[in-house]
Amino acid sequence: EPKQRDLATLLRRRLPADSVQLLELLGNSGDEQGVAVHAVGGFVRDLLLDLPNLDLDITIEGDGIFFAETFGEQHGCRVRPHQAFGTAVVVFPDGRKLDVASTRLEYYDSPGVLPTVERASLRHDLYRRDFTINTLALCLNHDRFGVLLDFFGGQKDLQDKTVRVLHNLSFVEDPTRAFRAIRFEQRLSFQLDPHTEGLLRSAVRAGLVERVGGKRLMGELIQILKEQEPTLAVKRMAQLGLLPCIHTGLRFGPDSEQLFAELERVLAWYQLLYLETPLEPWTVWFLALMDRLDSPQYLEVCQRLMMPERLMERIFGHRHKALKRLQHLRQALGRGQEISNSQLYTLLHGMPLELLLYGLARSGQDELRRLVSHYLTRLAEVKSLVSGTELQDLGVPRGPAIRTMKERLLSARLDGLIASKDEELELARQLIVEQL
Ligand code: ATP
Repeated sequence: EPKQRDLATLLRRRLPADSVQLLELLGNSGDEQGVAVHAVGGFVRDLLLDLPNLDLDITIEGDGIFFAETFGEQHGCRVRPHQAFGTAVVVFPDGRKLDVASTRLEYYDSPGVLPTVERASLRHDLYRRDFTINTLALCLNHDRFGVLLDFFGGQKDLQDKTVRVLHNLSFVEDPTRAFRAIRFEQRLSFQLDPHTEGLLRSAVRAGLVERVGGKRLMGELIQILKEQEPTLAVKRMAQLGLLPCIHTGLRFGPDSEQLFAELERVLAWYQLLYLETPLEPWTVWFLALMDRLDSPQYLEVCQRLMMPERLMERIFGHRHKALKRLQHLRQALGRGQEISNSQLYTLLHGMPLELLLYGLARSGQDELRRLVSHYLTRLAEVKSLVSGTELQDLGVPRGPAIRTMKERLLSARLDGLIASKDEELELARQLIVEQL
């Protein structure tokens, strides 16, 4: 029998009113269809920890897809079913999402005693989860609304701040849980239970983690690098021997420590620039993690992780060039050389942002940061005001000459030699005359 506790009051106090209402609606649908509905997983964990989490996962003791479709029809939601898994995603008109799963129906062996069989099947379903803290279930049906079911001691582990697997074969069943364990441990400031840590280390020693497929490994790594502060998690990965499972050349030494600390500062600084350019910070952390690898090793990692071609091209293809250009700037600064806007623009234009930020963290030089900031905030978006057609009308021949002319006009604009469109046209005329 699971431990039970009534959370109805806590839930109403901690959750926004519309979330509570949604939970009630789901419970009512369950009542109408005669099935038990439970919120499960991260949502319940975070409710108890009083952390915001609006990603709701529910489990239906019965046919989850049928439940989702009926609920969707009643409330004007789109429903995307996955027949093979017995799951569905419900998308609300305002874009919010809800994941619906089914407990496995084969446990309905004696329909006469429904409640116990249902309960047993929910328990079995939760037993397949990764850690005890993710096994808590919250009943949403009206009569038992807010009753917390705790089959595996999840509440105690939440209190003790412990990440614990449910059984000894957990990492053998699914070695990606090694990464998940670290992610939860670091995010929540929890500790791996010592026995769980032993099991994790055994799985690493047995070579199970290094055999995880590229796509799944990449998925877990991205999730870790998307955490608020990935540094501690990466350090912990190193400590538990997970980095070599990605690539044998990966380490986290004192120099990595310094680079990661610097990158934290660079990313914070970048946020304060409030630029519109979209940035995925995880890609910058990824670059920092790969910092020690030479080009062939880098390629091996990308292949191992089955990194999509486009991403690989973006952050790997330009790596060498970007670092060289920043190095060039740094040396020029070192010599006390003046760098004009147009020179700066020519060096940095077209460089992927994540590479610039990674390069900045690597250089650790404030002066260079000022230059890059000047480029990003003042220069990156500057465009010449004269069109190709207008240049043709002035007599510039079609083809590469147009481009060269536009570059010269842009340089003059960047360096403050011209401002208005008329001035730009005037300069174009002058340049054409000079070239004749
Ligand atoms: P987050 O707040 O990061 O979304 P979450 O707990 O919701 O955390 P997800 O990765 O979205 O984590 O997974 C949802 C639930 O599915 C988890 O609570 C977990 O119990 C279960 N789960 C996910 N991956 C696994 C796995 N590899 N093995 C077992 N259970 C898993």
